Amino acid sequence: MEQRDPRFKRKVCNLRPNAVIQKRSMALRIPEKLLDLIRSHSAREYPNECCGCLVGKEVDSVKEVREVTALVNLRGRSARADELLPLEAPDRESERNRFLIDPDDLRRVEQEARRRKLEILGFYHSHPDHPARPSDYDRDHAFPWYSYVIIAVEAGRPGVYASWMLREDRSAFDAESVEVAGSKTRDDAASGQAPEAC
Ligand SMILES: [Zn+2]
Repeated sequence: MEQRDPRFKRKVCNLRPNAVIQKRSMALRIPEKLLDLIRSHSAREYPNECCGCLVGKEVDSVKEVREVTALVNLRGRSARADELLPLEAPDRESERNRFLIDPDDLRRVEQEARRRKLEILGFYHSHPDHPARPSDYDRDHAFPWYSYVIIAVEAGRPGVYASWMLREDRSAFDAESVEVAGSKTRDDAASGQAPEAC
């Protein structure tokens, strides 16, 4: 996540102003059809990173995703992206390995979710030709509690996905259990600390 921009950070922090950080392990429940939307979005944007929001409700320590909202990776629109958050290493960074959500888009999703008594549960993005594990960069721009679904896309084909939660001390991501509703499978993402990727 790219959230170093003060406006963005403040906005994301405000998404759950009264949040109680869960000590218990949580799980993400997502319908297969919504996973398919994430898959198709990731394929459509390949070789660039796609991004979007997971919207739903937390019920008994389970984040139930009711809808996914595909958003524009602002990193592909350099003028607006540079205005919000210039790249630190433009020779190595682009929309192929970075994504940036427009704070205006995020605000819109948040307002629409609240109107329907839902909330933003997390975010998804793709890793084109990289494993579905968060990078240092992802860690630096993420916040605890939220689910960060990452889907690997190899040569344009959506592949393995996993959901990650940032520890409260921000030291690392932990894999989060993913229950696929409408499917008999229960996917447990690779456990342990995320190694470096992209
Ligand atoms: Zn990433």
